[in-house]
Amino acid sequence: MKEEIHIFGAGITGLFLAYHHVKRGDLVTLYEENNTLGGVIGTKTVKEGLVEQAANGILLTNDIKFMLDDIGLTPLYPKKASKRRYFFINKKLSQFPISILDGTKLIYTIFLKKLKFHPNLNFEEWSNDTFGLSVTKNIIEPALGGIYGTRCKELHADTIFSKWDGSGTSTIFKEIIKNKKKSYGTVSFANGMGDLVSHLVSYLKPKIKIQTGISLSSISQMENLKGSVRICISLKNLVPILGNSLNPEETPNLLTISTITRFGETRLTQKPCFGVLFGKEEGVRALGVLCNSDIFDGRVKDNFHSETWIYPKLDGFSSEKEIEFILESDRAMITKKKEKAKAIYKTTWEGVFPAYDRNLFLCNQKFDQMETNWKKNGLDIQFFGNYRRGIGLRSIFETTMP
Ligand SMILES: Cc1cc2nc3c(=O)[nH]c(=O)nc-3n(C[C@H](O)[C@H](O)[C@H](O)COP(=O)(O)OP(=O)(O)OC[C@H]3O[C@@H](n4cnc5c(N)ncnc54)[C@H](O)[C@@H]3O)c2cc1C
Repeated sequence: MKEEIHIFGAGITGLFLAYHHVKRGDLVTLYEENNTLGGVIGTKTVKEGLVEQAANGILLTNDIKFMLDDIGLTPLYPKKASKRRYFFINKKLSQFPISILDGTKLIYTIFLKKLKFHPNLNFEEWSNDTFGLSVTKNIIEPALGGIYGTRCKELHADTIFSKWDGSGTSTIFKEIIKNKKKSYGTVSFANGMGDLVSHLVSYLKPKIKIQTGISLSSISQMENLKGSVRICISLKNLVPILGNSLNPEETPNLLTISTITRFGETRLTQKPCFGVLFGKEEGVRALGVLCNSDIFDGRVKDNFHSETWIYPKLDGFSSEKEIEFILESDRAMITKKKEKAKAIYKTTWEGVFPAYDRNLFLCNQKFDQMETNWKKNGLDIQFFGNYRRGIGLRSIFETTMP
């Protein structure tokens, strides 16, 4: 039977959810407070090439392949050379920044050590305990910083691995296998990630009702709607709507992220690569850098090289000049020389996603409880987004599948 579904928020979460419900034959209305759809995802074309506003790629799985086919979008596969990934540790670039002994211990931990989360340990403490100091400092800290937009001491293992059994009975290997789906690596599209939004919108427009300029502003507004309600607005805008439903320890800590896309004449590293991740004591303010033109074709014009640098909140630095200075100082740590950029483009997202910490874990427990209480009262209201079961687009696609 056709269900009536009201989706609030037309970022990628709302668009994916609308897509899944259309495939089920449901009657969908999508409400968005802005006049544009896609949320933080979008691609700007500038005279030097493409500038992504948020996500640079999506992890391709069979389900996502099927959806792309359905909406008439061809994935753009990465270049072979982008398989190379670097860590910047002890002021040097390295593809494998730990010793053979530490590598062996890591393999032992993954296959044999029982996985146990500790609510009182932050990710850095838990990781030191589980994997040892060297693996934490040289691999885990840089890798997580680049994905979660902050340092490990601001994160929590049970929030990051929310789908894993951390009760002390399973191993990391077993949990990876349990949750594994065949993946074909990260892909983008000919005109960047904006293509994903525009194709989804073109596909959905004739099949659903889209109402822009409509805001979700209160809990009673959703409780009074006929049909099921799906909340896909950003957590930053959701928290004030929930008023005092969240206790202080359940209130998420929101992060501010800046990305700077830099066009220049020389490559960052001698050989092409996907990018570089930075350890926290390397004197570099950036969390990571993606070498866009080494990853995908069509990102630049006129033989430029394009890089996107990812920064946590840059307190005290605001003018273009100051930001350019930070970027070029960070870059010179790797290249060992000063070079002027052809152009830089900065995007700042205030409170764009939450720290994956203990507060978020408790916040999600509260959301589960609210959903159950609504259900008991005959209401089908659910929360979806990058704060629920994973930050990346692939997780969002999978969790929005009905
Ligand atoms: C810099 C950066 C780089 C990233 N890189 C990657 C990457 O390479 N790969 C990857 O997989 N992921 C990446 N991500 C993560 C991914 O882009 C986000 O998790 C995802 O786009 C979030 O989508 P969303 O729809 O949940 O939220 P949003 O994009 O924030 O969308 C929320 C929507 O709700 C609307 N809205 C808000 N309040 C209301 C209201 N009250 N009523 C109605 N509508 C409302 C907003 O206008 C918006 O359209 C990155 C994120 C950032 C910031």
